[in-house]
Amino acid sequence: MKQICVVGVGYVGLVTAAVFADLGNRVIGLDINEEKIAGLNKGIMPIYEPGLEEIVSHNVKAGRLSFVTSYPQALNGTEFVFIGVGTPSGVDGEADLRYVAGAAQSIAENMTAPLIIINKSTVPVGTGDWVADIIRHHQAKPIQFSVVSCPEFLREGSAISDCLQPHRTILGSMDHEAAEKVAQLHLSLRAPIMITDLRTAEMIKYASNAFLATKISFINEIANVCEALGADVKEVAVGMGYDKRIGPQFLDAGLGYGGSCFPKDVKALAYMAAEKGRHPQLLRAVMEINDDRRPMAVNRLKEMLGNDETNTRLDGCTIGLLGLSFKPNTDDMRDAPSIDIARMLLADGAHVRAYDPVAMNIARPLLPEVEMFLDPYAMAEGCDALMVLTEWNEFKQLDLARLKVLMKQTIIFDGRNIYDPAQMAAAGFHYRGLGRGYNGANLL
Ligand code: NAD
Repeated sequence: MKQICVVGVGYVGLVTAAVFADLGNRVIGLDINEEKIAGLNKGIMPIYEPGLEEIVSHNVKAGRLSFVTSYPQALNGTEFVFIGVGTPSGVDGEADLRYVAGAAQSIAENMTAPLIIINKSTVPVGTGDWVADIIRHHQAKPIQFSVVSCPEFLREGSAISDCLQPHRTILGSMDHEAAEKVAQLHLSLRAPIMITDLRTAEMIKYASNAFLATKISFINEIANVCEALGADVKEVAVGMGYDKRIGPQFLDAGLGYGGSCFPKDVKALAYMAAEKGRHPQLLRAVMEINDDRRPMAVNRLKEMLGNDETNTRLDGCTIGLLGLSFKPNTDDMRDAPSIDIARMLLADGAHVRAYDPVAMNIARPLLPEVEMFLDPYAMAEGCDALMVLTEWNEFKQLDLARLKVLMKQTIIFDGRNIYDPAQMAAAGFHYRGLGRGYNGANLL
């Protein structure tokens, strides 16, 4: 049993704290957000993540997990400190490291014994060295410490199982002994552990996310070509995915990547490359393809509603959005395609409604003009069109006959390709997905 402190109990930090407590360690979750900590101490989860409430409450009851706002209290007796604070996009796509700097300074000012500081936040290459400088600078007296990079690869929506069964643990440090100690902490997860240097570990995270984003933009480009040539991108992806060198994952054509990681991480990597005089051509193309998806979805909807290019307004139309979160099984609205799409529809004069199983409370302040409904059928009543923006499972089972009766016009734009075009046509809907090759292309 080790004593661990996790700084920042957001999507990454809270899951990390719960999982390490579950592995038998004593874990203190620390956050400067007092409301979040007060809620956690009452058993209220600050985020929606399947299985999180159960694992947190189990470990709190077992006395292995607690939450505080005080650094001295959290660091007392602690040997390992994980940093899991946010690293949002700053100016020009550069990562904003103010929270990492704040955490490093507070750790330095409050440490009273040697520490291994493990960075889980996604940070630009070289940040580990910079964190070490901050700590040295802010220590009241010199106390030994080491910095280890341990980038996090969990996915929101399956974060607990991703953390308990990771594909790999990457550790980077200039202090091999410290990295070995951190490796010991991860041994019971039974995943391959790779120990490398600090900068390489930081780069592995960016390269991994950029590669996954590239796969998404790749299949979206193929979807555009499929539409022009009359092929079905869903079948193309299945056929490609059988090839073990390609694999089936991340080949879902749709509205492009969103969320709190891919957009900011691809931007930050491109920024780092450009800063050093390199030309990140591929990364720029990946971002450009992704940026086109949201306006493209709105234009498709307009075509379906019969609005040609000279009549691009949607005045008087009521559009219902199925799903708001950037992906299913999370309430995370950070850079969700729904935000841009809803704003574009509103700007064109449409009335916009929405239903999401978990994200509406977070979405409300972001989209105050969008009318939120607690039920998809109530939302659909009187709508001219529905747009599927998040592939929640419950949307796959909607009662189409009921929807047809409720809607004013039976138009569905499926931004996630969750429905079968033939079934939708048979059910009497004017339906379009993305890259499904049936949109009237002039085929030879
Ligand atoms: P988040 O915004 O959900 O949580 C960050 C938390 O840090 C907040 O609760 C905030 O109050 C707290 N915080 C900020 N400054 C602090 C300080 N000085 N001391 C203590 N607490 C402080 O962020 P997140 O989504 O968990 O992401 C954290 C990092 O992990 C980011 O770098 C992100 O890129 C990376 N990451 C995220 C995911 C994901 O799916 N969300 C996956 C892998 C990696």
